[in-house]
Amino acid sequence: MRVGVLGGGQLGRMLALAGYPLGLRFRFLDSVAEAPAGPLAELLVGDYTDESLLARFAEGLELVTYEFENVPLAAATWLAERLPVYPPPRALEVAQDRIAEKTFFQGLGIPTPLFYPVQTHNDLLDGLERTGFPALLKTRRLGYDGKGQQLLRSPAEVEAAWAQLGGQPLILEAFVPFERELSILSVRSRSGQVGFYPLVENHHAGGILRKSLAPAPATPARLQHEAESIALRVMEKLDYVGVLAIELFEVEGALWANEMAPRVHNSGHWTIEGAETSQFENHLRAVLGWPLGSTAARGHAAMLNLIGERPEAAKVLAVPGAHLHWYGKEVRPGRKVGHITLRADSPNDLSARLRALEAIMTDVTGE
Ligand code: AMP
Repeated sequence: MRVGVLGGGQLGRMLALAGYPLGLRFRFLDSVAEAPAGPLAELLVGDYTDESLLARFAEGLELVTYEFENVPLAAATWLAERLPVYPPPRALEVAQDRIAEKTFFQGLGIPTPLFYPVQTHNDLLDGLERTGFPALLKTRRLGYDGKGQQLLRSPAEVEAAWAQLGGQPLILEAFVPFERELSILSVRSRSGQVGFYPLVENHHAGGILRKSLAPAPATPARLQHEAESIALRVMEKLDYVGVLAIELFEVEGALWANEMAPRVHNSGHWTIEGAETSQFENHLRAVLGWPLGSTAARGHAAMLNLIGERPEAAKVLAVPGAHLHWYGKEVRPGRKVGHITLRADSPNDLSARLRALEAIMTDVTGE
């Protein structure tokens, strides 16, 4: 059985690694020949909107999924007219536009930061009247890892941000004074079966995820239920199939939605060693209509992203409970090139191991 994956990045690579034991084969489509999934499986390289390429990609596939949410919608819909595509292209459409996404959340009664669409300089000034300072100006589309975003701390910073981002569809968001960032990874199969992983606590620096702790420490059951209710509403509304990640802000004990990713997610990498069934395996089970595996955590886990650095494998692996994942990418500043998962049976052991690991790494800021 061959599964087609749009996007051949590290997420695709880890999908393939999870799929081989299940007897699956993979074909990837990516715009670059050096895509990390390339060494593992068949890789077609070209433009996602090239229909002759899409036709070659689709040939003989059981179904298509994606690991990259900026897949052009036209490519996903073209494929969906010919073979099953999961998650549904509608989920891509919502997730690709920050305004559509926040409007969608609000329609389901899910709180979001106050936001305002910005097309012109006047819109920006009007929006700032509502949001006040600080506020965040972001591109509506194609933003990731903090790219295409400007923090406006005071009126003095407005013009520089406009010079940087103006001229394209934007969104202005009130800055949320959150206590912490969490994410909920959920999964829904073709048969409607659902599963939820424990909430994950995420630490970003410069808009990029650095560290995740799972299950999120000191999290009352009430918060987990609230997160599951949010994820369930989103999945049911979209008739969703696959793994879905929703990034949340914890604000005075309540959860607000920041954004969603209709795919496996960086804040779910800990599940490879830290959960009964990894997000990658469960995504494949879901899109194939197979029974889902348990989403329960195995003890306590921490995931550290390797960003622009390649620590010595032998040093990393000397830390008890450490697992190294290298994506086969060239190291460049600011680039995610791998991650490390640490697992332990108690929070105390996890903290001690984290300290040992952080001492080896050069770029673990976390906060
Ligand atoms: P995003 O690309 O929207 O996920 O933003 C990247 C990171 O910027 C988030 O993980 C937060 O740390 C921060 N951020 C984004 N939007 C807001 C907001 N409205 N208020 C406070 N922080 C935010």
